[in-house]
Amino acid sequence: MRTRGVLTAGFALLFSLTTGPVAAAWAAPTPSPSPSSSAKEDEGEMGNPPDQVDVPPVSTLAAPSFQLPFPCGQTWTGNSSNSSAHKSYEIDFNRGSTADADRGDTVVAAAAGTVVISAHQGSTNGYGNLVKIDHGGGWSTYYAHLTVRSVSAGAQVAQGQKIGTVGNTSKPGNNISPHLHYEVRQGTSYPGNIRKATFNGATFGYPNASVTSKNKCGGGGGSTNPHTAESVCGAGYKVIDSAALGSSGTVYLTFNAGNGNNCVATIKKASLGKATATAAYLEVEGKTRAADTGNFEYYAGPVRAAAAGKCVKWGGKAGSSTYNSPSEHCGS
Ligand SMILES: [Zn+2]
Repeated sequence: MRTRGVLTAGFALLFSLTTGPVAAAWAAPTPSPSPSSSAKEDEGEMGNPPDQVDVPPVSTLAAPSFQLPFPCGQTWTGNSSNSSAHKSYEIDFNRGSTADADRGDTVVAAAAGTVVISAHQGSTNGYGNLVKIDHGGGWSTYYAHLTVRSVSAGAQVAQGQKIGTVGNTSKPGNNISPHLHYEVRQGTSYPGNIRKATFNGATFGYPNASVTSKNKCGGGGGSTNPHTAESVCGAGYKVIDSAALGSSGTVYLTFNAGNGNNCVATIKKASLGKATATAAYLEVEGKTRAADTGNFEYYAGPVRAAAAGKCVKWGGKAGSSTYNSPSEHCGS
């Protein structure tokens, strides 16, 4: 039974690999009198850039529940046939009335996952500033030509979390107008691994369609914060104390035995993905208090300081709740 299952899966993969590009080739000759058919955008060669970080393989093959990679309520027009660089189901998104109108617009994660590429691709390919998110099960999404990348390789991102802004970055000398180049892939054999995009459970209306975002339309909250005190503070930091901030979040004190540093982070539980007043601070005995205070979507911090053998005061704020510790943890 096991062998049979593997063979069936292999056949299904081969079948989809061969049908994908063929279907796209059949669609391509459709007569189109629009000016864009004679002036396709040249994004430069795309490709299959290697991941910067490895994530553990996940056995499930189910596709994630993808949403449009733009904030809730926005309507964007996707075009799969307007770029000479496209191989099959890639989509270029625009919404503005002028060529430059979309520059700087927020791009969000289509589904939760781990950032495995966040880098300008230089002259290697035409993606320019590229973010790739691994969603598990071999599924990944690509977000290209970004003006700004606001997440780093290795970061966990929530669905609907901002990952960058729309732009026109590409390989040197390649002039394109600002748009989001978006791809869904499963597997590694480029370009057969480029899959049809789905948004809110519906397959995109290839080759061209307008889609209104349902991404995180719950108004924030309700989702799970992908960040932890130890992921925010970094490798080597372990939680040694914590305090609840009502139902709004938790502030954590961590310690790194390797370098003698404490680190404080406030992890939100409510209004996730919405910038709300959040703070974390750390005051080492005899030193000035260090703090991270602002309007943050998921957490405040990290606030790190050398504190081996010193007492510390620590605390934070989320929602209407504040915590201030006494002077404590004098030995660590
Ligand atoms: Zn494109």
